[in-house]
Amino acid sequence: RMFNELQELKGNIRVYCRIKPFLPGQVAKQTAVEYIGENGELAVVNPSKQVKDRRRNFKFNKVFGPDSTQEEVYSDTQPLIRSVLDGYSVCIFAYGQTGSGKTYTMTGPNGASEEDWGVNYRALNDLFQISQSRRGSFNYEIQVQMVEIYNEQVRDLLLSDGSQKKYPFILVQTNGLAVPDASMHPVTSTADVLELMDIGLKNRAVGATSMNERSSRSHSVVSIHVRGKDLPSGAALHGNLHLVDLAGSERIDRSEATGDRLREAQHINKSLSALGDVIFALAQKNSHVPYRNSKLTQLLQSSLGGQAKTLMFVQLNPDVTSYSETISTLKFAERVS
Ligand code: ADP
Ligand code: MG
Repeated sequence: RMFNELQELKGNIRVYCRIKPFLPGQVAKQTAVEYIGENGELAVVNPSKQVKDRRRNFKFNKVFGPDSTQEEVYSDTQPLIRSVLDGYSVCIFAYGQTGSGKTYTMTGPNGASEEDWGVNYRALNDLFQISQSRRGSFNYEIQVQMVEIYNEQVRDLLLSDGSQKKYPFILVQTNGLAVPDASMHPVTSTADVLELMDIGLKNRAVGATSMNERSSRSHSVVSIHVRGKDLPSGAALHGNLHLVDLAGSERIDRSEATGDRLREAQHINKSLSALGDVIFALAQKNSHVPYRNSKLTQLLQSSLGGQAKTLMFVQLNPDVTSYSETISTLKFAERVS
């Protein structure tokens, strides 16, 4: 098939691949990534010499190599953010094994300076800047929610008392969209959102044996709800933006995992494959889209499908020792694109 045709099929789904650099101290390691093309081509090579066809080719809307900057990775995303203010729903994900750079892409490194800001901060910054530039002709109200999904339980990360209360997961109709019945926080600036995300990240760490552990076993979802009023006509519009840092996609060895670990693995597996099924059904333009198979897909339903636009960052660790996880990540991407 021609690439143009693929683009057509993809509809409102865009898939970018980002390859993590080798970190200092890691330089001696070997890469499984053989080729990165200008137009989204990627070739990986099986490190095992015994295998016959060792090279495999993949195609994305774009591939960002290990040297790409946060700014470059974000650069094509601004039009999506603009469309949120035009009343569209947008969902941006990071998918990949633990340690492949999902959080780096979405949030940035710990204590990031503006230059290192991830997609979340850049998107929000744009959201406020664009909304302010439209002041006079549009009046916008922006509200934020932040939840975590762990073992199919949804937890509000922005409760002011910092409690870890789980709540029965309910979707409520707000502005004609189904949104989780979690606390809603009005915001008027990027600084407001940064403060909230900080609280959310701290709450996320509470009760976790180790923050890294827990954060890699759960999905975090920042939801931004926009209500706009066209001042001349009085017409209302509703947009929303979901920013999702998914749980690590790595396979847990079934023979080794027991108890909590096994349960976590099963829940993660179930929700990531439910996500894959939904995006696949949408890409195929199937009439039935199986949203109900996981909390994740239920929560994101308003921003997946219909007129909604989806962007997925497929994160890869180029290290040869990660080869089998890399292939499984690429297969997921291939299925949804
Ligand atoms: P994940 O969220 O997928 O588990 P992280 O985003 O935490 O992975 O990345 C793992 C480590 O690699 C972190 O120390 C992170 O700062 C670093 N890292 C990831 N991507 C990059 C990148 N593009 N440039 C520099 N460091 C990165
Ligand atoms: Mg992470």
